Amino acid sequence: MNAPTCSSTRRDGTPCRATPTASGRCFAHDAALQESTSNGRRRGGQNKSNARRAAKRMPRELRDIVDIVEAAMGAVLQSKVSPSQGHAVASLAGAWVRLHELGEVQQRLEALEQAAESRKGWRA
Ligand SMILES: [Zn+2]
Repeated sequence: MNAPTCSSTRRDGTPCRATPTASGRCFAHDAALQESTSNGRRRGGQNKSNARRAAKRMPRELRDIVDIVEAAMGAVLQSKVSPSQGHAVASLAGAWVRLHELGEVQQRLEALEQAAESRKGWRA
C-alpha cells in the first residue's frame, strides 16, 4: 500500500509524505515553490527575518503546519487555489493545533498526577 508522495523535502530534510498533485508535489510545496520563484524574492526581508526568528522558537511539527498555511494563503491570494480550498487548509490546520494542544495538556496533566501520586506515597 505505497501511495505516491510529494517529491519535495520538508524543512528538516526528511521527505514530504503528503499526497502529490499532478505536479508531483503536494499542494503546499507546489504553492511554496511557485511563490518563491515568482514574486517571493521581492518580499521585504524584514518581515521574513522576524517570521523566521519566531519560527525558530516553535516545535518543528508546528513549523510544518505554519509552512502549509502560509503556502495556502499565498495560493489563495494568487488565485491558484479556490478560497474554499484555502478555508479547508485553515480549518484542518486549526484542528491539528487543537489536537496537539490537547495532547500536550494531557501529558502535562499526567506528569502532575504522577508527581502528586509519588508525593503522597512519600508522606505515608
Ligand atoms: Zn510536499
